[in-house]
Amino acid sequence: MIGRHDRIAERVFMVGGSGLSDGADCLVYALDLGDLALIDCGAGSSWPQIRTNIRSAGQNPDELHTLVLTHAHVDHIGSAARIKTETNCRIVAHANDAPAIESGDPGFTVAGLYGVDLQGIKPDYLMKTEEETLQFRKGELKLIHTPGHTPGSIAVVYQSGEERIIFGQDIHGPFSPAFGSDLNAWKKSMQKLIDLKADILCEGHFGVFRPASEVKKFIQEQLAAHKSMMPKPIPL
Ligand SMILES: [Zn+2]
Repeated sequence: MIGRHDRIAERVFMVGGSGLSDGADCLVYALDLGDLALIDCGAGSSWPQIRTNIRSAGQNPDELHTLVLTHAHVDHIGSAARIKTETNCRIVAHANDAPAIESGDPGFTVAGLYGVDLQGIKPDYLMKTEEETLQFRKGELKLIHTPGHTPGSIAVVYQSGEERIIFGQDIHGPFSPAFGSDLNAWKKSMQKLIDLKADILCEGHFGVFRPASEVKKFIQEQLAAHKSMMPKPIPL
């Protein structure tokens, strides 16, 4: 079990999620790239705790440079509007999920299901291609379009020395027409992630998987488990 704001790898920290900030939050990851980057931000109410966790990890949340939203679900984007107001960071998302992020659509974002009155936010930078790279003072993040869970789902890849880390977030699904899921697209996306041969997988709800054999095993288990669009009682 990964503990509170534990260091996952050089420059990589877990700063939010169940047991760290709030049970409604996805797992939230912070990276010190010379500039501070955050991957997803939780469902909304726990931002003060996530800020505290970022400080405990030796980083300054007031200087947040970039917030990457891996997709439009509320447990990943709920604090984004508040974070924008507090830090004026750059918010990055895929163009396909941007309309829901901007409007806060309660169906697509599942804010209705979570009972959250979601404030929408317009991303500053929209990913529109299959692969893009964000540059920082001390490193870079590669964004990979991985549609399936939602049309605008993104995986983030960070090379930490010898170790390749994937922030896969909702690799496990679930899938629903309410937020534009596409099981066939998802299968192709998962194969893309397997082909990256990552050493570490940071998932959005199930924690951190390592070494490479465990990363591959987890993704393959998800592929085997999801043979239909039937909703499953697992986190969004
Ligand atoms: Zn989701």
